[in-house]
Amino acid sequence: MEKLANYIGGELLPPVSGQYLDNWEPARGIVYSQIPDSDERDVEMAVTAAKSAFDKWSSMSPEARFLIFDRLTTLLERDLSILANAESRDNGKPITLARTVDIPRAIANFRFYATAAMHTSSDSYLTSLPDGTKALNYTLRQPIGIAGCISPWNLPLYLFTWKIAPALAAGCTVVAKPSEITPMTAFLLSKLCMEAGVPPGVLNIIHGTGPKVGSAIVVNENIPAITFTGGTATGREIARLAAPRFKKLSLELGGKNPNIIFSDCDYEQMLDTTVKSSFSNQGEICLCGSRIFIERPIYERFKEDFIEKVRNLRVGDPADAVTDVGAIVSKQHYDKIMSCIDRAVGEGGSILYGGSGVVPSGSSDGSALSGYFIQPTIIEGLPADCKTNQEEIFGPVVTIMPFDSEDEVVALANCVPYGLSATIWTQNLSRAHRISHKIEAGIIWINCWMLRDLRTPFGGMKESGLGREGGFHALNFFTEEKNVCVKL
Ligand code: NAD
Repeated sequence: MEKLANYIGGELLPPVSGQYLDNWEPARGIVYSQIPDSDERDVEMAVTAAKSAFDKWSSMSPEARFLIFDRLTTLLERDLSILANAESRDNGKPITLARTVDIPRAIANFRFYATAAMHTSSDSYLTSLPDGTKALNYTLRQPIGIAGCISPWNLPLYLFTWKIAPALAAGCTVVAKPSEITPMTAFLLSKLCMEAGVPPGVLNIIHGTGPKVGSAIVVNENIPAITFTGGTATGREIARLAAPRFKKLSLELGGKNPNIIFSDCDYEQMLDTTVKSSFSNQGEICLCGSRIFIERPIYERFKEDFIEKVRNLRVGDPADAVTDVGAIVSKQHYDKIMSCIDRAVGEGGSILYGGSGVVPSGSSDGSALSGYFIQPTIIEGLPADCKTNQEEIFGPVVTIMPFDSEDEVVALANCVPYGLSATIWTQNLSRAHRISHKIEAGIIWINCWMLRDLRTPFGGMKESGLGREGGFHALNFFTEEKNVCVKL
């Protein structure tokens, strides 16, 4: 069975412990590879490597770093199919999604940040005091040092590179940990870094669990900045450890996003997009709209049409190009989602569609799909303050609720501890802007969903996180500002 390796100081190394964890293929429910069960000793080795690479990497020109990124992105493009197949197998996501979204976006992340770093500037202030004294202040933005990057399993290479690309482009060296549930594409990336000639120690990838590897990164005294994407509870624990050490923190956490549909929307466009925003990647995207609010005059029509569209989604082998909904990432997450569905019924919800696990027939290679599949599930009849509507499920489960007025729906949208994203469907532009201003979320989409521009600020309010990624926000995060005052 294939054994993955850590990537430290430009080499592929086994974990110091010699221990490995099983890596599961969720569509088949089988172990298909093993990953290093690393600990603080591997992290320490990675930090040593990152430290010794820092001076040279941080003092390189952005143009020189760009050339290395350029070689890497060419290799990522060459291996797009290999990477997409690996991502789909490791995560359970439909291959079409991996091929058209996950891997292209990972490539775009490197391209975007390699070029962005060539367009940075810094502020300067000409100071003039009443007594005639003059001075020039200018602000340096210097790479902060070693960046710790910790990412989740839902968009594995996409989010892993969304963190390491800006860190590296800003001139930091990196110690990164992908999710132990989906380690494969990060491992493939380490091999491509070696082929592309990324200098040893610039990027180090340590595999293993959160409590062992993640925590060791967070508390390491040589890592001054941590960027984390994952669950809110984990984010809280990381903040608890990082705060007394005065580390810079960027936290991208969970969501319970509202999808608000007014009667005057472009109905067909709304319907097609709402199916996607509900069930893409099995609903395992932090930006999925899991609470759907529909203006009462079109509630019954929407309900009927939405169920019909969802009925047509093909739940099946992630490796099959026609599959719309693949496997849930793990048995543990499958059980969590199923218990959330049971709880929803216990809270008085009616299941309009789905609600159960399913064993799809017809795998691409004839083997049994005995893994973790759940039908897309639509629930109605629940109040906004029940647990189902308050807690993140992170699966193919949505609730639908009618509303009567703008004020009411804004209150409903905001009545959760989260504030990541929101979608608004209306042709009334004034209303769309008005509501956007009132909704407590970092990202608002009007008449669209997941339309991304990498320059824009990305992140959440309330328990959805701290700080913003994207564009210069991420580059700035990985730098330390220093003001220099020169008396003229
Ligand atoms: P998770 O919090 O369980 O794990 C995320 C990463 O943190 C993994 O690499 C894990 O090993 C590591 N980790 C776990 N415990 C740790 C600890 N004590 N210290 C340091 N690291 C630790 O999250 P997950 O289940 O992998 O991902 C799903 C969650 O991620 C959902 O809540 C989802 O909403 C969120 N998410 C948010 C965004 C966003 O941009 N806001 C994007 C994707 C996913």
